[in-house]
Amino acid sequence: MHRNIQQKVYQPEDLASLVAHLPENLQDPVTQIHYNIMNHEAYNNQNYAWSKEDFELGTALGRGKFGRVYMAREKRSKYLVAMKILFKSELVKGRVEKQVLRELEIQSRLKHPNILRMFTWFYDDRKIYIALELASQGELYKHLKNAPNGRFDEHRAARYTYQVADALNYCHLNNVIHRDLKPENLLLTEDDNVKLADFGWSAHTLSNKRKTMCGTLDYLPPEMVEGRQYDDSVDQWCLGILCYEFLVGSPPFESEDAERTYEKIKRIDVVYPKYVSQGACDLISKLLRRHGLRISLREVMTHSWIKENTKKPLRETFLLNHKK
Ligand code: AMP
Repeated sequence: MHRNIQQKVYQPEDLASLVAHLPENLQDPVTQIHYNIMNHEAYNNQNYAWSKEDFELGTALGRGKFGRVYMAREKRSKYLVAMKILFKSELVKGRVEKQVLRELEIQSRLKHPNILRMFTWFYDDRKIYIALELASQGELYKHLKNAPNGRFDEHRAARYTYQVADALNYCHLNNVIHRDLKPENLLLTEDDNVKLADFGWSAHTLSNKRKTMCGTLDYLPPEMVEGRQYDDSVDQWCLGILCYEFLVGSPPFESEDAERTYEKIKRIDVVYPKYVSQGACDLISKLLRRHGLRISLREVMTHSWIKENTKKPLRETFLLNHKK
């Protein structure tokens, strides 16, 4: 196994411009952390051998199927990360070694503001350690469930939909299909930005056509349900389901059993509650179409409903959403 360390090479003279957009009270501490990072032996040094001794583990952030995620602090720079720790024995038992390696390989290459950044990974005899960007607000799913009536207002839904479309568009440009989009695989940062995570199901595609059935039942597109070949436009379908779930609180084809869900997917039988605006219905209906007819991710990002609802500055939306 090889390590993969990727950092953008800023110099101390860049610091003033890097922190200029931050509130005044944060500029000094952030400058100090960046200064420490730049003076770290690992800075711009691909050969630095990271180990668990470089990090102090803090509180547990969550638990996945094969490991736990902790808040962690790099000792010298004091930089906070989320450290995912996986037990090798459990990966072998669950036969997911390949899936995890694929996730590590894919995530280490992707650098986008709405994709959870993987800083580095290393291992010892028993465990694999993955240092990830911290998304301190956790799973978006939790926020959806806690929102009034279990759904987001149109501003919030449109902003998140835009950010996910941007992230997926970047994935597709890099020949990666996510294939498992759902609110549980999206994390939220302190400043209310979405980070696409969990690349365990993603596939590299050079031919861009695959036939494995995967993903979550409610999010499966008709071509996967019917066992046909599919391409990266499966992510557009999932984005349509996601946007619907943001606005309604549950996915459009949810039923008492899998058989009925499959039937509804095949018929693209979508019911829009009255409170969903015409603009949102228009966007979703252009994504929930048969293969070959879905609008592109670029078209999602410039759709009139998205544009109308993303005019508010970021910080204002964050404060409104977190009002007590
Ligand atoms: P996972 O093993 O990736 O499913 O992660 C398990 C749980 O840990 C998630 O549901 C989150 O609540 C939390 N978590 C994972 N990654 C992060 C992160 N980068 N920042 C904050 N919390 C995280």
